[in-house]
Amino acid sequence: MDPILQAYFSNRRSFVSICPSCKQSYEFSPDCFPRTPRPSVRHECACGRAFSVVPVGLRSCYRKPVNLMGGLRKQTDAGKIQVPCTILDISPRGLQVSTEAIKSVVVNDTVVMTIVLDDKTRSRLTVQCLVRRKMLEGPMMVLGLEITPAVGAHTDILTTYTVGEPNGHTTL
Ligand SMILES: [Zn+2]
Repeated sequence: MDPILQAYFSNRRSFVSICPSCKQSYEFSPDCFPRTPRPSVRHECACGRAFSVVPVGLRSCYRKPVNLMGGLRKQTDAGKIQVPCTILDISPRGLQVSTEAIKSVVVNDTVVMTIVLDDKTRSRLTVQCLVRRKMLEGPMMVLGLEITPAVGAHTDILTTYTVGEPNGHTTL
């Protein structure tokens, strides 16, 4: 059994760990870890030591690619009808959606998102999100959304949905 080496999520959307003996740092993409409840990968450092690299918090940042229906509206547009959107990927912390361009939605706006999952019970979630990114693609826009607050009623549902059942069976 190799010693465990923790890898921390960086602002470059990858996991970084540092070899304790030679101080060499390594980056791991979230995609290189198996979709299991306790993911790890074996890594051999250039200095010859081998580790079992464990991504700290991977569960909360891995985004599952999906094609789900949803709806969104600006929080300040209370009572207005939601604009339909397609959810492109989702994690317990955030999601990326594609929708008809809405001029009034800008970065740092708060939007109210309705998400309909394709799980057994077709869970329906309503969450508040902060707009982190906005990209225009012709008549469409793609929004990067961060769910706020980070932990809430949605967390367990989305963790189960994106990572799989706790018994090790994954939904991917
Ligand atoms: Zn090393």
